[in-house]
Amino acid sequence: MSRVADPEELVTALAAIVGDRWTRSPSELEQHGRGETHLAPAPPDVVVYPVSTDEVSAVVRACAQRSVPVVPYGAGSSLEGHVSAVYGGVSLDMSRMDRVLRTNVADLDVTVEAGVTRKQLVRALGSTGATFFVDPGADATIGGMLATGASGTTSVRYGTMRENTLGLTVVLADGSVIRTGGRARKSSAGYDLTRLFIGSEGTLGVITEATLRLHPVPDAIAAAACSFPSVDAAVDAVVALLQSGVPLARIELLDDVTIASLNAYLGYPEVPMVFLELHAFSRDALGEQMGAVHEVVAEHGGRVHASATTEDERARLWDARHRVYYAGIARRPGARSWTTDVCVPVSALAQCIRETRADVAATGIEAPLVGHVGDGNFHLLLLIDPADPAERERAQGISVRLTERALAAGGTCTGEHGIGLGKMSSLAKEHGDSLPVMRAIKDALDPRHILNPGKIM
Ligand SMILES: Cc1cc2nc3c(=O)[nH]c(=O)nc-3n(C[C@H](O)[C@H](O)[C@H](O)COP(=O)(O)OP(=O)(O)OC[C@H]3O[C@@H](n4cnc5c(N)ncnc54)[C@H](O)[C@@H]3O)c2cc1C
Repeated sequence: MSRVADPEELVTALAAIVGDRWTRSPSELEQHGRGETHLAPAPPDVVVYPVSTDEVSAVVRACAQRSVPVVPYGAGSSLEGHVSAVYGGVSLDMSRMDRVLRTNVADLDVTVEAGVTRKQLVRALGSTGATFFVDPGADATIGGMLATGASGTTSVRYGTMRENTLGLTVVLADGSVIRTGGRARKSSAGYDLTRLFIGSEGTLGVITEATLRLHPVPDAIAAAACSFPSVDAAVDAVVALLQSGVPLARIELLDDVTIASLNAYLGYPEVPMVFLELHAFSRDALGEQMGAVHEVVAEHGGRVHASATTEDERARLWDARHRVYYAGIARRPGARSWTTDVCVPVSALAQCIRETRADVAATGIEAPLVGHVGDGNFHLLLLIDPADPAERERAQGISVRLTERALAAGGTCTGEHGIGLGKMSSLAKEHGDSLPVMRAIKDALDPRHILNPGKIM
């Protein structure tokens, strides 16, 4: 894959498709080549803003004819250099494809364009009685969430993008358009191409539309913040709660450093905490479940520090949880977060976190820890000076050892963020024997390697 030979000729060809919806402004190019990664940015040559599947198809066809790279771009919130245009080319910004096309509350499904954001979709569903639950914290686009196989705080109960997607419209590398899946709740019709594109990080096709599963809004909801004397006690309590069968809708671990980062906002004691939420069909059922939570928390030396039953109280709690990333980075001016993302079987979680915290303490890097622990998934925000090679090396060491620890426990190097540029060597360790199959799929679907080249493998 070479860089764009004649940018002026390319822009003329693209302008014939999208009119004036393109830019080469240096700040836009820089933003589109960076995302939220700790890695150095790599700007594209031009950003285009399509508004329809037909336009995406025409842009990709024009790029295919010139062997020009195409990097799909949603909200740019990915963390592993996914949107870096390492060979230049066209950043295909999907944010103007932002229409909710069809909502069917009776069937609990919705069809959206790929640039619709998670918050926009939840707002659009409003008072229909149905909602979309996958919640990665950042206000990511549905296309980006599909392309990274995203999940979030509610996945312990409602699943990830994989479980919540029925069908897709995809533009392939030659500009042709296919539709995968459909609206049926299940299907045995051929290979499951929907799930092939989920997690493909823009390397196999450009997703332009998606049909997603909705869930009824629960009748009774309560959230709670529970404090614990140690991270070990908190993780043991989470495992006990999962084993008790209490239907947890969210269960998140925040260590003492993370709580300290949030304290201007929350004012909790600076000890490890678990934020959780229960969804039930009646207030009585909810009361019983909350009773079980109190018991398990007390058995592990913790206490339910605050219960949030009103919508405002819950919004405040989860808003704080979603601020963890930026509040953590703010602890060290000028720092960026090298964010890890392992996921292990829940039975291995306590030991994996224990060994990881000991490793981090030995390196002296500050690293707030937060996790979707109900799924066995946790993150370290390794706060580093991105310009300091020695710090990068220490962070790299922690990340490599953490991945080895997770794989040895039967886990994965990435529960939800994906591979991008940052985890390519980890993917080889985790799925070395499957890489030839992945390469064969890539070669078959994108023989010129124009779609987000240089990523995943
Ligand atoms: C504060 C913060 C919290 C986060 N928390 C979570 C979390 O809890 N769970 C989680 O899963 N992630 C989390 N993330 C990571 C990020 O939000 C997700 O990876 C998200 O899914 C990326 O969506 P996006 O729209 O920003 O995509 P982008 O960053 O724009 O793109 C991501 C990848 O998808 C590709 N892509 C984008 N749109 C399309 C499309 N239409 N068709 C094909 N490919 C496309 C891009 O080429 C790129 O490879 C977090 C990030 C931040 C900054």
